Amino acid sequence: MLRIDNNPEVELLDLPRLSKFQVQLSIKREDKIHSSISGNKWRKLYYNLIEAKKKNFKGILTFGGAFSNHIYAAAAAAKELDLKSIGIIRGEEADENNPTLQFAKSQGMELCKVSRTEYKRKDEKEYLKELSARFPAFYIIPEGGSNQLAVTGASEMVSNDLVDLYDYWAVAIGTGGTAAGIINGLKGKSHVLGFSSLKGGAFLEKDIQSFLTGTYRNWEIRTDYHFGGYAKHQPELIACINNFKAATGIQLDPIYTGKMVYGVLDLIKKGNIPSGAKVLMVHTGGLQGLEGFRARYGKIL
Ligand SMILES: *Cc1c(COP(=O)(O)O)cnc(C)c1O
Repeated sequence: MLRIDNNPEVELLDLPRLSKFQVQLSIKREDKIHSSISGNKWRKLYYNLIEAKKKNFKGILTFGGAFSNHIYAAAAAAKELDLKSIGIIRGEEADENNPTLQFAKSQGMELCKVSRTEYKRKDEKEYLKELSARFPAFYIIPEGGSNQLAVTGASEMVSNDLVDLYDYWAVAIGTGGTAAGIINGLKGKSHVLGFSSLKGGAFLEKDIQSFLTGTYRNWEIRTDYHFGGYAKHQPELIACINNFKAATGIQLDPIYTGKMVYGVLDLIKKGNIPSGAKVLMVHTGGLQGLEGFRARYGKIL
């Protein structure tokens, strides 16, 4: 069916500047799961697409911003499964020729740009009813792909061989669906550190809680590494991403994984992650966004 590597490799990292802290740091390369449907987005789409097929929908309809990793992945995944796709895009001013939306269109996605006011209704029951009436043959997937089927897909990142190996799992958070999946997959083992990529994470706690399949308390959300808010960046973040690339050869993205890695390294330096600990960072992908980022901010990454 789909050409994917369901259990991408884990790499042990050697960062000379951190050696004195004696923390064992590894990274799970979910970014390598598929050439264009990268990282957690593939995991989150998988069972949703199966469901859409099973229920004989002609296609999927979903939501995202002009540079959305989810829109990019949804367009490619739908095409591979012979499903049509519609993307409801935030902002009438969105540039359909930016690299993300151009790719989505090349995969056959039909773009429907809506005002920011209309976009805000994306989770309202009434609005979803209207969309279903307008596009009855389309299976609706929420923004960022986060629903219970997505969380089930994300839980499969925790393969059996990894369950008992790490003291910490570190993951970037947007909607929290991926973190919830990892918490469910670990079934109370290890400790999950979720790094919010956006400002103000109070609602995230509740959202994640709502996706959990057990009463797990082995997780926390760090809200102090958002660098000004969603899709905002600062020079320290850019430096961290570039240093990490120079030391490991691994590219991070500035929206999610860069902030997570910055946070982990900072917690190690501050002693919040103790020496002797084994930490697994999840590389959730998102590298498609780099081209659009460079077009806006120059080649600083
Ligand atoms: C979407 C995304 C996330 C956040 O995933 P959620 O399930 O929404 O929390 C993290 N990393 C990358 C690269 C993403 O594209």
